Amino acid sequence: MGLYLFIIFAIFTALIGMIVYVTGKNKKEDTYTDLDTEEWDCPECGFHVQAGDKCIYCDTEKP
Ligand SMILES: [Zn+2]
Repeated sequence: MGLYLFIIFAIFTALIGMIVYVTGKNKKEDTYTDLDTEEWDCPECGFHVQAGDKCIYCDTEKP
């Protein structure tokens, strides 16, 4: 039972670590997108638009 709880705790910790890492990474990318005027990431589908002010997948305007 002790080992079982430890494994659950380890998985939970890894999951939280991953979420924190992904959140931090997204924040960095957002800052980068603000500085770049040519390329941007679509907020609707996440597609990285390299040219133009409209997403070619979902027709979302550049934010
Ligand atoms: Zn899109």
